[in-house]
Amino acid sequence: MSTPKPSNQYSMRNPLTQYPQPPFPAQGQSAPGLDSGMQPKPDHGEHSYQGFGRLQGRKALITGADSGIGRAVAIAFAREGADIVLNYLPIEHSDAKEVIQLIEAEGRRAIALPGDLKDEAFCRELVSQAHDQLGGLDILVNVAGKQVARKQVGQVSSEQFDATMKTNVYALFWLCQAAVPLMPAGATIINTASIQSYQPSATLLDYATTKAAIVAFTKALAKQVIERGIRVNAVAPGPIWTVLQPSGGQPPEKIPDFGGHTPMKRPGQPAECAPLYVLLASQESSYITGEVFGVTGGNPLP
Ligand code: NAD
Ligand code: MG
Repeated sequence: MSTPKPSNQYSMRNPLTQYPQPPFPAQGQSAPGLDSGMQPKPDHGEHSYQGFGRLQGRKALITGADSGIGRAVAIAFAREGADIVLNYLPIEHSDAKEVIQLIEAEGRRAIALPGDLKDEAFCRELVSQAHDQLGGLDILVNVAGKQVARKQVGQVSSEQFDATMKTNVYALFWLCQAAVPLMPAGATIINTASIQSYQPSATLLDYATTKAAIVAFTKALAKQVIERGIRVNAVAPGPIWTVLQPSGGQPPEKIPDFGGHTPMKRPGQPAECAPLYVLLASQESSYITGEVFGVTGGNPLP
């Protein structure tokens, strides 16, 4: 079990002022962007997340593990005792290196298997390699995602529509299809939906469509695989301060006020998402499957 870290995630305080609030500096990167280029830096729980052995000895594959929500999940899982395969795009290696160092600092294994999830053959190979290199597969966390804002339906190219569908939906299908036969009873799959699954923004037509699909996929798969003792759930974040947003996920003019329209009047941080993934991965959530949980700053899911 890991040594307790100086805590700022566990002491009682006002959540409205716990993390940075708008206005944020205007900024932009080209997709997928790097976490290291964000201003202010997101909080992934590096200095705060405390593990309690909830995932001791578990073997986890996490996509999108280099940055944002996936990075926070990877840090939390390592501190809970899991060994981890990290997937991300090769261009994001400098972000991934920071996560690998943090996992190894916990005495856990961090295996980098970068590659493009739009490629079916790669998805299947990723699951097979993760299983072989970890010596099993207990947890699949699908975090990777593509989001490109466009104001008009006519501006969404077929290439963009296809890439968003492939990254967010097809990859999820390929990874789950490959993983389920390899998973033991007690294993868990956690998908990443969005508030956009239910309350789509006008600018996120294709993205919101994929996120609604992820909700249906999660519920249907959960009903199938519970016979094998495998649980499937989804996390649906609201606005979270990650590089997805200033790298084309939002129109640039929306970045300074990002998260300002939630009841909490600020975006969430990746560190505020990770504990829910830990709960859903751990045996503590043994009676929970086929559910979608919001982390939205006060905009409840329907
Ligand atoms: P992020 O940019 O840090 O993470 C997304 C990751 O997806 C990237 O790091 C990249 O590694 C991966 N990715 C994208 N295309 C890929 C491909 N073709 N092959 C392999 N990997 C690929 O941003 P994030 O906000 O942490 O996003 C994580 C998830 O959270 C996404 O599914 C996103 O849709 C979802 N989400 C984010 C928000 C938000 O406000 N940030 C809100 C709701 C849902
Ligand atoms: Mg990234």
